[in-house]
Amino acid sequence: MRCLLCAKLSLSFICRECREAIEVNPRLHNLRDLRAITFYDYDDIAPLTNAKYYPFGSFALKQLAIKAFKPFFSELKLDNKAALIPIDDRVGAWYSHSAVLAKFGAAGIVTPRFGRLRARSKDKYAGQTLAFRQSRPRRFVFKDFEERDAILLDDLITTGTTLLEAGETLEKNGKTALFAVALTRAQ
Ligand SMILES: [Zn+2]
Repeated sequence: MRCLLCAKLSLSFICRECREAIEVNPRLHNLRDLRAITFYDYDDIAPLTNAKYYPFGSFALKQLAIKAFKPFFSELKLDNKAALIPIDDRVGAWYSHSAVLAKFGAAGIVTPRFGRLRARSKDKYAGQTLAFRQSRPRRFVFKDFEERDAILLDDLITTGTTLLEAGETLEKNGKTALFAVALTRAQ
């Protein structure tokens, strides 16, 4: 096969050189009352988030999660154990790779909890405007988990509308949304 980033022949979806070369560049984003941290520059990983590479993309996402999220969560200091909540992690949902990221990115005091926030809305949000997103909320179904504190996880932040709605859903159910993490933010 060929590396998805440099197109050289490779035994994996991102060749070793590209995997080592992609820079982890943490950034803080203030999404109204929720803080979010992203780990990669959009241009560096955009080819991997392209749906046309599905299902291969999930293998590449695994590698990105191990490189960025795992060290971050290993070093993280929290007062209590926290749940890591992948947003809308439906099996077979090609547009959501959050479960893959949570599975391979969690470490230390963060435990992935799957299927806790799933959208009722079947609308497709990719490429849509802020107005569209705000007019059609995801209407998350919440399922309880044992930790009180939670960290939200998504693959990509665009407007931040989804993360804010997810955070509000947690808070309404008595949880504390500490912050959110994502691979990158679309420009
Ligand atoms: Zn490569």
